[in-house]
Amino acid sequence: MSKIKDIVQHLESIAPLAYQESYDNAGLIIGDASKNVSNVLISLDVTEEVVEEAISKNCELIVAHHPIIFKGLKKLTGSNYVERTVIKAIKNDIAIYASHTNLDNIRTGVNAKISEKLGLINTEILSPKNGFLGKLSVFVPQENSVELKKALHQAGAGQIGEYKDCAFETAGKGSFLPSDKANPSIGKSGELETVDEHKIEVIFPIHLKNKILSAMKKAHPYEEVAYYLHQLENTYDDLGSGMIGEISEPMEPKDFFDYMKDKMGLEVIKHTKAINRKIKKVAICGGAGSFLISQAKNKQADIYISSDIKYHEFFDAEERLIIADIGHYESERFTNEIFYAILKENFANIALHLGQTVTNPIKYY
Ligand SMILES: [Zn+2]
Ligand SMILES: [Zn+2]
Repeated sequence: MSKIKDIVQHLESIAPLAYQESYDNAGLIIGDASKNVSNVLISLDVTEEVVEEAISKNCELIVAHHPIIFKGLKKLTGSNYVERTVIKAIKNDIAIYASHTNLDNIRTGVNAKISEKLGLINTEILSPKNGFLGKLSVFVPQENSVELKKALHQAGAGQIGEYKDCAFETAGKGSFLPSDKANPSIGKSGELETVDEHKIEVIFPIHLKNKILSAMKKAHPYEEVAYYLHQLENTYDDLGSGMIGEISEPMEPKDFFDYMKDKMGLEVIKHTKAINRKIKKVAICGGAGSFLISQAKNKQADIYISSDIKYHEFFDAEERLIIADIGHYESERFTNEIFYAILKENFANIALHLGQTVTNPIKYY
């Protein structure tokens, strides 16, 4: 029997909480992680109706994209939909988990799904993040260096873009004087020892720091491992907001609008004036994406597809690209497919239910 914490752990191995934005509240929001799960409901949002759907389908857990609790809750009197949803979930013993901006920010997340729907190729993150890479330098006796490198790589260190198992290694002399209380694997207490050592340097995403350090300590022969950790300024190309890619056959703007409607099931596209060229480069951001308009322009996108664009922000298109607002719900509705795929591969014993409740609060007339 799987537990809620197993599901949480698996989701976070793919979309770690460390990757969420500072304002966010992703993670296990309601519920006891040690409880068993046999049925999971997957939904973009959590509303009272969604909790009712979970009850009717005997789900112990709802996995959602948008966190039902976003700001602090000071009262639980049922005076608004958030409080009522939380109360209903707790009363019925239903846990709620949200994977939000951490799922937006990963290379295989919300924007990858939109790219897939639109058939985009050569995709990359539109605005990659800095400060999420670390470097480890560790000193090891020459004969143990291969084994140590292997352990570090297995823990996830040394991946640079499409290159795996990257490392840099230099030879040198290490020296140390063990104290009376030390238990050295090489040398004796009270005697200065010099050893042929290698320095191994590897890069790693910072959320793996603890895993990599424990793998290092396990694979290292020394009682006290000498190492340095650095946080790097480098851009982490696999992490960040939005995505940009190309369509294989450039299309006239009007044809591309029809294509978008068809591929994404859209009723309406709010857009700026069509540009005087075919659409080839497509920038996207699921959810509220006005913060990436300038980035889409800088990267010479022909169209920027997102949602929650304000009136004055549409002016920023300046005929350099088309800004297309397709609606927040519409841009992220396929996120449920991501959760489904992630959970299906690891939890064959759990019944997954794709939520049937249409949570979009916006109607078109
Ligand atoms: Zn999102
Ligand atoms: Zn959203």
